[in-house]
Amino acid sequence: LTTFTDEAKIALDTLSGRATGLFSPSLRLGVTGLSRAGKTVFISAFVHNLIHGGRLPLFEAQKSGRIARAFLEEQPDDAVPRFQYEDHIAALVNDRLWPDSTRAISELRLTIEYESASGWSRMFSSGRLSVDIVDYPGEWLLDLPLLGKSYADFSREAFDMAVLPVRADLSQEWRALSAAIDPNADADEMTARRLAESFAAYLKACKLDERALSTLPPGRFLMPGDLEGSPALTFAPLPGLSERRARPGSLQAMMERRYEAYRTHVVKPFFREHITRLDRQIVVIDALQALNAGPGAMADLERAVTEILACFRPGRGNFLTDFFSRRIDRILVAATKADHLHHESHERLQAIVRRLADRAVARANFTGADVDVVALAAVRATREGAVKQGRETLPVIIGTPLKGEKINGETFDGRTETAIFPGDLPEKIDAVFDVSGPDRQQNPGHRQSPGHRQGNEDPAIRFVRFRPPKLERTAEGVTLSLPHIRLDRALQFLIGDHLA
Ligand code: GDP
Repeated sequence: LTTFTDEAKIALDTLSGRATGLFSPSLRLGVTGLSRAGKTVFISAFVHNLIHGGRLPLFEAQKSGRIARAFLEEQPDDAVPRFQYEDHIAALVNDRLWPDSTRAISELRLTIEYESASGWSRMFSSGRLSVDIVDYPGEWLLDLPLLGKSYADFSREAFDMAVLPVRADLSQEWRALSAAIDPNADADEMTARRLAESFAAYLKACKLDERALSTLPPGRFLMPGDLEGSPALTFAPLPGLSERRARPGSLQAMMERRYEAYRTHVVKPFFREHITRLDRQIVVIDALQALNAGPGAMADLERAVTEILACFRPGRGNFLTDFFSRRIDRILVAATKADHLHHESHERLQAIVRRLADRAVARANFTGADVDVVALAAVRATREGAVKQGRETLPVIIGTPLKGEKINGETFDGRTETAIFPGDLPEKIDAVFDVSGPDRQQNPGHRQSPGHRQGNEDPAIRFVRFRPPKLERTAEGVTLSLPHIRLDRALQFLIGDHLA
């Protein structure tokens, strides 16, 4: 029977084109998230752990020893930049530095050779899966709603958002500049540029501000890619627009035309060529940063996740429906950097992300794909320990803070290991989302770190950025793969079923 099976398999493989190299099933996995959320680190760790046979107990195919090998292959799309995996790994592993973050779209093909779990599938499946990983800024994705908005809608909404208490001071300069502008005046390049620059400065300030606000469109104002300075990016919303047609030759007409150019030449092609071809998607979020900044930032992050999910909503009512050639069937919302917390808090972080994602799913009226959540660290930069303080034993995390990081008045040199009590996440999830409460909320019963002063300005979680970990070597001198927290759970959800 074995002989028959083998022969049948060869025949089938030949038929399916495997022997001639024509056919290898592929899965397009989108990796997105707002800038600095952790996309680059996630992809690097994902690939490194698969190539180097990392410890992945929750990733079934690996655990049961069915993965023969994983390796990089040439990507299918010649016009898309390649994800610079080797450079990123060299930075992480050799230099213990975090790699350069995502600035534009890039792609990488990882091919996995595996043995099917069931004898039946072993006969029919090729035992080979190519995962095309597509890394792109979440800022670009958040442009999708613009396709359904006129320039007047876009302008009105931009001003509505800008006067919200959480943004009002950051947008003040741009609003003051806009207030002095007559949309009906003659078009003038310098005025357009001044407005566009001031508007972009406001959007960037929202991102950099410690309030950790998520993003407002247009996404290319924050992540221009190769469009920096082009006319398609030299526009801004104008105040007090009526629905009447703009006078030809006016500033409003000029802005409107550029907004249209942005939609036609930037937003649409990006969606048609990249987003609509995805099968699976992971949305990486920096929930810890938002938690630390308070309920206003959490609400803002929730809004961003809602809008991101709405972009993937299949079915009627979505003006992108015609574009979609495939259907995204699984979306993972992943809060990364969980290694900044002691494991006691990981479940709480995941519960918070679950609440956020559930609300986003409900608000986006999202159906049609499985949405799951996970709290993970793509690269684990800390280990855990305990420090005695009086009668209490505090759970701490131990790592090497980056050069220049400060805590309790001490500045680190980038070489010294230190133990930090990061604080606990609030037990009551509601408090995290309650915008009526104080920003940078205190959490009652919150334990203080050793030597820490009591004070109202104390953030909920104490953050220090750590250097990437030093990799262990085996007795034979082989470097082990990058350590992580629950990366395997993410892998199982994103690709596990395709390796069954
Ligand atoms: P991107 O803009 O989404 O590509 O973000 P990156 O992947 O470059 O991550 C931004 C920064 O977040 C990195 O430089 C690290 O400082 C930090 N970071 C990302 N992932 C992790 C992680 O898993 N653990 C830790 N400790 N830090 C992380």
